[in-house]
Order: sequence, then structure tokens, then C-alpha cells
Amino acid sequence: PRLANQIAAGEVVERPASVVKELLENSLDAGARRVDLDIEAAGTKLIRIRDDGSGIASDDLPLALDRHATSKIESLDDLEQVGSFGFRGEALASIGSVSHLVVTSNTAEAGSDGQAASCSGRDMEVTLKPAAHPRGTTVEVRDLFFNTPARRKFLRTERTEFNHLDDVVKRIALSRFDVSFALRHNGRQLRDLRRCDNEADQLRRVASLCGPAFVENAVAIDRNAGDLRLHGWVAQPSFSRSQADLQHFYVNGRYIRDKLVVHAVRQAFSDVLYQGRHPAFVLYLELDPAEVDVNVHPTKHEVRFRDGRSVHSFIYSTLHKALADIRP
Ligand code: ADP
Ligand code: MG
Repeated sequence: PRLANQIAAGEVVERPASVVKELLENSLDAGARRVDLDIEAAGTKLIRIRDDGSGIASDDLPLALDRHATSKIESLDDLEQVGSFGFRGEALASIGSVSHLVVTSNTAEAGSDGQAASCSGRDMEVTLKPAAHPRGTTVEVRDLFFNTPARRKFLRTERTEFNHLDDVVKRIALSRFDVSFALRHNGRQLRDLRRCDNEADQLRRVASLCGPAFVENAVAIDRNAGDLRLHGWVAQPSFSRSQADLQHFYVNGRYIRDKLVVHAVRQAFSDVLYQGRHPAFVLYLELDPAEVDVNVHPTKHEVRFRDGRSVHSFIYSTLHKALADIRP
């Protein structure tokens, strides 16, 4: 199991940003309304994430650090319709195998009788002790890759690694307006995103994550057709920005970067606008979960639509119309 954990770690834990992604998704799966991230040295020294989610029951805590222990699927049938992010039950075990990991959690409101489970590196011996914690979970990952020098060597500069990590936070914050997110790096508060109660709040968050210029030049779209809904913001044709990072597409709340989707969006933009512009958008596609497989690969952002053709034409026609309407 030790070796298996480290192999699995290679799949899921490529760099600090991938750890943060797994931990953020766990917090959201647990129903958190507020998530606080504390990062040191771009996550190589410390990643601490604290949430106010359901917490982990004492008996389940050691299990949570075990490979393939997931509380999220009961049967194989559930795999068909995974609503939660996690379902493989290997993230915490993988992270624990390449770091010093402490998970402190409490399911009770009282906050007195929590528990902390720790493990370090390869041997995965889990130590338990009582620890006070309000309802929710804190996961602390120290010295990532301390025992895998090869992986450590592949890390880029602190700045690059932190940018990757911040991208993950950004993507997730754009998908969950109902959750507060805070991000500190080396003791400095870099993001403080309050939960959004209305569209004005949402626009404020989009402005803070995508830049005020995007919001000033964006129009809101929202269209339903049968079981499909596409909503979000697309930039005005007059708004030209050459960064590819202003392209956020979500399917059922999950960030994706999929060939079919990219093609439909590109085609709509280029059919309406003249050449050379880079589309900027934050878009959310919602459809029946049975119509899409979002778990094609644990780390890639691909999806598989059951009826790709109608999804493509729905995205294309919706955007084409929206862009043509606002063309100056
Ligand atoms: P998965 O998310 O695939 O189930 P993980 O290794 O990421 O696997 O987590 C293992 C288990 O630990 C989860 O199924 C869940 O029960 C529990 N868990 C992890 N993080 C949290 C959290 N922040 N809040 C509540 N439970 C958690
Ligand atoms: Mg998980």
C-alpha cells in the first residue's frame, strides 16, 4: 500500500496547486460555506485549509487518510451520477504519503471534542489525539515532497507555483458564489471573497478575479433550451484582450477545458467578430448529470457529453446570438 500511495500521489499530487484543488474540493463536498487558505512558500512549506463543513466523525478520521476510503459513493451505480468532486478516495492518502499531514476535525457544534489525525510520508502510520476544533475541518500539509526529491526538483519558482495555486482558487471561487474564500500567502491577505447574495455581489467577485475591465465590457447571458442552460458573462466584441486566462467554462459547476466546448465558443466568437480577437468569458453550462461524464480523468479537465452535437450547437447558437446582439 505504501508504494501504491506514492504512485497514486504522482497522479493527483503534481504540485502545490493540485493539493489545494483536492483540499478545496473536499471542503466543498463537505458543504462548507467558508474556506480559509493559509499558504507559505507557494505551498511547499505549508498549505493549511480550514472549513466550516460537516466535519469528519472520530471513527472515520483514520479512514479518511486511507487509500480508497471514500465516504462519497455507496455503490457502483453512484459512479454514473457523481455529484461530488471526490469519489476515488485517494487524495488525502496520496498527499499524506508525500508530506507531513495533519487533519483536525469536529462534527459537533460544541467545538470541544474534536480530533486530530496525523501521518508523515511513506509509512502512513496514523496518530490520533484529541484536539479542540469548531465544527468543520482543518487540513495542514507541511513540507510537501520532503521525501520525494525528484518531484521537488520539478517545482518551478515560488512565483510560478503560487500563480498555479491562485488559479485553482480563482477557478473554484468563480464556480461557488455561495461560499466565502480567503487566501493568505506568506502572511499577506491576497484574496478575501465574501459569499455573494445577489448579482451585484457576483459581479464584484468576477471583477476582483477577472479584472474590472472584463466586467465593464461584459454582458450577462442566460438561456434555457430543454434540459440545457447556459449562463454567465461574455465580453463585448469591442473588448479585446489577448490573455487566454480569461476563459472560464464550467459544466455542472466544474471547471473544464474541453475540445468540443472550446470549438463551439471559438466558432461563435469568430463568426461574429473579426479575426484576431481572443474571446473572454465566464460561462456556466448546466445539464442533466446523466448526459455528461465529468470524471474521464482525475486531473485533466475533459468531459464527455452523451449528445455532443446538441451541446455544441446549443453553445454555439446561444453565444452567436448574444454576441451578434451586442455587436456595435
Ligand atoms: P474523496 O474526496 O475522493 O472521497 P479524499 O481522500 O479526498 O477522497 O477524502 C477522503 C474522505 O475524507 C472523504 O470521502 C471525506 O469523507 C473525508 N474528508 C476529506 N476532507 C474533508 C473535509 N474537508 N470535510 C469533511 N470530510 C472530509
Ligand atoms: Mg477528495
